Amino acid sequence: MSEAEQEVGQVVRLYAEVATVQLGERTVQCVVRGRLYREDTAPAVGDFVRVERSSGNCTVAEVLPRNSALVRRAAGTSVGKQVMIANVDLVIVVFAAARPEPNVAALDRFLVVAEANNLQAHVVVNKLDLVEGEPLALSTRLLFDPYSQAGYPVHYTSAKAGTGLEELRAVLVDQESVFVGPSGVGKSSLLNALYPGLNLKVGQISEAYGKGRHTTVGGYLIRLPDGASVADTAGLREIGLWLVPPDELPHCFPEFRSYIGKCRFSDCAHIAEPDCAVRAAVHRGDINTSRYESYVKLRAEAEEVWPRW
Ligand code: GDP
Ligand code: ZN
Repeated sequence: MSEAEQEVGQVVRLYAEVATVQLGERTVQCVVRGRLYREDTAPAVGDFVRVERSSGNCTVAEVLPRNSALVRRAAGTSVGKQVMIANVDLVIVVFAAARPEPNVAALDRFLVVAEANNLQAHVVVNKLDLVEGEPLALSTRLLFDPYSQAGYPVHYTSAKAGTGLEELRAVLVDQESVFVGPSGVGKSSLLNALYPGLNLKVGQISEAYGKGRHTTVGGYLIRLPDGASVADTAGLREIGLWLVPPDELPHCFPEFRSYIGKCRFSDCAHIAEPDCAVRAAVHRGDINTSRYESYVKLRAEAEEVWPRW
């Protein structure tokens, strides 16, 4: 019998135990070897895998080491950590300038998830056409300025008017990105405007996996021109359940970092302790109040849920 052929490819879709693997220009359906599940080394979308072919069957035999992963740590499950997407380079957090109104508490939560996974995040403020030329345009910029100050690149776009698309496209070149954000902010529209011919149905990015299928670990990777790719999984919509250990949370706010360790107590939670360097920075106006309020809220949540988890 001839030796099985082996190739390396990337998982672009995963459904139950069947992976769609991109091998060069082709995609092939492969069954994931059962041993990988037993050994807790099963592939996620985005993983590079070794595929074995013999007598017409394709098998995912091994998952190659990951550069990064977007991990879900959900409350109230016994699943433990679940890799939602592997080898992600960028988290693109999309909000709209209006319709729906931007929700900075939700934005802060997405950014914390990115930080907790050590992933670089960019903020996109879409639907700029709805506020342009109005005083609203100024208030939109004031709302998002704290994010630039915290070190996040902030891109102002309009998928409709074509504003800011070149700049965003340049960010995505040769990167594996995940687009997150509330439904209706224009994630699918932006991708269609960036890559004409992609023909994503409007709403597709957030709705591709229908409600009621939350337990399916699945998702897909869209390969785009310029070496860019965009991932989506059902799990991203459950981002509200993602948990970060309470004492890691301050580090998930980049603008807090230079103050951490300068408080009177080394285990300072930066909530009510005396001589807290973080709170002093908030009072001086060096840390944005709304960002700090998000921290307080997420900290309370983490303190409550983490010990039970
Ligand atoms: P998603 O759920 O985030 O993928 O959002 P969609 O791409 O489905 O867009 C939601 C709605 O917003 C659709 O009706 C789009 O036509 C509209 N939309 C998307 N981008 C823009 C934009 O830049 N300006 C305006 N005015 N509407 C937009
Ligand atoms: Zn402190």
